[in-house]
This record gives sequence, structure tokens and C-alpha cells, in this order.
Amino acid sequence: MAKMRAMAVPEAGARLQLQEREIPSPDRHEVLIRVQACGVCHSDTLTVGGYAPGMRYPRVPGHEVIGRLEALGPDVDGWQVGTRVGVGWFPGSCGYCSQCRHGDAFACENIQGATGISRDGGYATHMLAHVTALARVPPDLDAVESAPLLCAGITTYNALRNSGAGAGDLVAIHGVGGLGHLGIQFAARLGLRVVAINRGRDKEELARSLGAQEYIDAQSSDPAAALQRLGGAKAILATVTDAAAMQAVVGGLGTNGTLMVIGAVGALTVDSLDLLRKRAAVKGWYSGTSADSEDTLLFSHRHRIRSMNEIYALEQAQAAYDRMVSGKARFRVVLKVE
Ligand SMILES: [Zn+2]
Ligand SMILES: [Zn+2]
Repeated sequence: MAKMRAMAVPEAGARLQLQEREIPSPDRHEVLIRVQACGVCHSDTLTVGGYAPGMRYPRVPGHEVIGRLEALGPDVDGWQVGTRVGVGWFPGSCGYCSQCRHGDAFACENIQGATGISRDGGYATHMLAHVTALARVPPDLDAVESAPLLCAGITTYNALRNSGAGAGDLVAIHGVGGLGHLGIQFAARLGLRVVAINRGRDKEELARSLGAQEYIDAQSSDPAAALQRLGGAKAILATVTDAAAMQAVVGGLGTNGTLMVIGAVGALTVDSLDLLRKRAAVKGWYSGTSADSEDTLLFSHRHRIRSMNEIYALEQAQAAYDRMVSGKARFRVVLKVE
């Protein structure tokens, strides 16, 4: 039997371990993917640290996967061996439950969990995926460059296009990091008037070079007041991971504005009077389905949107993970597997 290599978490809190395994055969409605690249994301701490409910080990993290189809299981229609595919968080959907039939496949009642959490992910040479979890990848899109688009990319692009903001509207990208540096590029290409908000001035030049027309330093000024001076935001894409920082921008929403929450910060305190007098909203956004991933890859390809990445080999996954956790990476970390 041919073998595969995986960088697996043997138990909660343990270091990643190189494991040689038999290459698994795809089950019904599953495919086997030869992984080309996989992004290393802050959310992988859920898998490594054991913070996701019901975690079972060993588990291979990784939910920003690009590869090629190597084998198809029974009852897989519409896909061919050799096709380039991407897999993000979305683990697939059944197509027949009430959620799926109402167009909310992300909330499928039968296929739950997430890639790299409830099933093995892309820190490996091979992985299995449900066929409905697959996104098509444009043939000339570089795997290493585009892997983070399957998480950081889809999350920002999909939240922006569902925020209610249209061409010319003022949109704030809160946080110029792994998510935010992509959010700025998407917002600018979507024709929005982009304001970047970050602490300090270090990232102002970068934010402007990516497409931000305005920049607010949240350390030296009140970001909500600064947004109001610009007319109030139609949407704020909140990518930060600190509740106090997020709360400080909500007051910057304009009439009918929406705070799109994509950074998990726990409890959030907002002024209800401020919301109701502006008819404003605070809304969470799930990254998206495989179809949303495909849209993100196509849009990124057409508009030359890329994440800025630091590259590591598969066997260096622990170093890559440590680098990501340090918060010093500019901006995403990617494993080049093939
Ligand atoms: Zn991610
Ligand atoms: Zn379903």
C-alpha cells in the first residue's frame, strides 16, 4: 500500500507529529485529494489546543487546502481525477435536509463539523473530502499563493458582499492583519470607499497601497468619531480578535449600517439606543460554502487579489504554526506540500 504523510495532533495541546499512514480510500460521495498547499490559520488553535467541542485525536488540522483530485469514491458525479480543487472550513452538505433545501447549506443538519476539526484536514500529502465540499480552482492560480483565500479570503469577500454595502458606500475594514489585508483589497475591487482602521500608523502605507482611501489610527483617535466625520459607515468588517477594540468602532456605523463580525471575541457590549436610532445592526457571518469559495477564487483571480504569505514545508508545520501563533507573520503562513 502507498503511504501518505501527515502532520497530526496526537492529543490536545501536544506538538504536531509527522505520521506515516496508509492512503485512505474515498467512501461513498467522497474524494481523495493530493494536497499541493495548505494555509495555517489562527483557528487551527481550536484543533491543536482541543478547544473545539467533541474533538477526537489524532487529528490533522488545516482548512485552507488546494490540491488535485486523485481518486473518486462511489457515487461521485461531475468531477474528474486530476481536477484542481480547494477545500475550506465547509465540510459539505446533504442536499435534502430542511436547511439545505432552503439554500442554507452552511447549516446542513446532516453533515456538520468542519474540515481539520471533525475530519482530517490539509496538513498532509493526502486528504479525504465530501464531494460537496469541493471548490473548483482556476488552472493557472498558484496553490501556495491562493490557499489562504479559502479561509481568510472567503470570510472577508463573502461578508463584504453580504453586508448591504454597494459601490461607492463607505466601508471600514477594522484590523489590518491576515483577514484585513485581504478585506481591503476585496472592498476596493468591489467599488467601495474603503477606510482602514488599525492601532498605530505602522500599517497605514500598506493599507493605502492595498486600496484603502482613508486610514484611522484607533490608538490616537476615537475610531467611531472619525468614521462619523467621514459620514458614517455603511458596513464595518470587524476582523479584530479583541472585544474592546470591536466595541469602540460600532458607534461609527451610519444609517442602516451593519457591523459584520468575523473575528470571534466572545461577549460584545453595544449601545442599543445607538443601534435603534440608526436602524443599525450587528451581524455574524459564517465564512461560506464551497460555492462561495469558488466565487472568491474566481474574483481574486480576475482582480489579482493575493494574500501576503510566509512559506514553510509540510514537515516544518510546527515551526509554521508557532510563527502564526506569534502574530508576527506578514500576513498568512502557508505549507507548501507538493
Ligand atoms: Zn482559517
Ligand atoms: Zn443538509
